[in-house]
Amino acid sequence: MPISELKISELTKTGRIRWYRDGNRNGNVLILFVGIHGNEPAGLNAIDRLSEKFETSDLSVYGSVYAISGNLKAIDSKQRYLDTDLNRLWELYGTDKDFSIQNGENSPSEFGESLDIKNTIENIIERHQDDVKSFVFADLHTTSARSCAFILLNDTLENRDLARSFPVPQILGIEENIQGTLLSYINNLGYKAIGFEAGAHEDKTSVERSEAFLWLLFDKCDLISLSDEEIKHYSDTLRSKSGIPDTYFEIRHHQLVDDPHYFEMIEGFENFDIVEKETPLAYERGELIRAPVSGRIFMPLYQKKGHDGFLIIREVSEYWLRLSAYLRKSFIHSFLKYLPGVTTVGSRSYEVNLRVARFLVKDIFHLFGYRVTKKDENTLICYRR
Ligand SMILES: [Zn+2]
Repeated sequence: MPISELKISELTKTGRIRWYRDGNRNGNVLILFVGIHGNEPAGLNAIDRLSEKFETSDLSVYGSVYAISGNLKAIDSKQRYLDTDLNRLWELYGTDKDFSIQNGENSPSEFGESLDIKNTIENIIERHQDDVKSFVFADLHTTSARSCAFILLNDTLENRDLARSFPVPQILGIEENIQGTLLSYINNLGYKAIGFEAGAHEDKTSVERSEAFLWLLFDKCDLISLSDEEIKHYSDTLRSKSGIPDTYFEIRHHQLVDDPHYFEMIEGFENFDIVEKETPLAYERGELIRAPVSGRIFMPLYQKKGHDGFLIIREVSEYWLRLSAYLRKSFIHSFLKYLPGVTTVGSRSYEVNLRVARFLVKDIFHLFGYRVTKKDENTLICYRR
């Protein structure tokens, strides 16, 4: 099928697509998000650098790549967001808070941005779905604290396979703690998606790392073919200089903040710093918050926007990773419903009554690849990703 020029002009006229390249129609289609948070320019800059390199060389891609700009108004004003976080509202679609049905004049500016992005994604998928090999998504961010580069992923085997190509720490299961991210939305559509965090917002190396990530991702998706030296060079750019292992981590604790104006992280924590249980970490309304568990500090909040104060993560063992990969491909799944306290509520989901099933419930369902969220004090919802 010839590439439809009409469609591409339709796609680009909204200003939502910052850069794209079209090549062979039977390759992979890579869809990138940059600037979902307006105060994170590294991804935008990295795309501009790539674009320039493509302009000034005879490089071409096999497949297609699109870079979608996130929160346009927030990017203009260099703020994380204007009214509400654009990366926390993606699971409202299809619920009673779905703003695509009712989107009044006074609704948050981000509702419009989200609808526009959703529309762009749907148009790209429609444009390619007849001959695409597969769709791959990546969302580029930076953090308020100093940090090495890392990857966030919803824990599916496909996502693990994609994320494994990058020599950076990988954090599993963020979607259980942080609801409504764009990554979860994409995963729920059934596509591979990973989040890349390049380092601190204004750190110059965050742009370099974002660019290195993109080149390696292009190679992984077979859009281009890098030489061994290039792969080594970009991998070295990404690798942590302070010895943080590029293995998997899981989230052990999530400190929620209701009003970031009353939350103050104690100065000096960098992402992945090791903390012992009881280490003083922050103040909220004057009250000291100590680490409830030992582990590594993750995404400490050093800005006055956002509701995630900090998280504590811990390394996941190789054994668990292999076992879970094995179990997910096995037939043992069908026995989960016979566990005490477990009720089937859909073809991919179970409810677990915690008054009956006290022990290891979360761990067992994680092993089998389920997303586990709390419905209420005594009930868990386990959904197969
Ligand atoms: Zn961000």
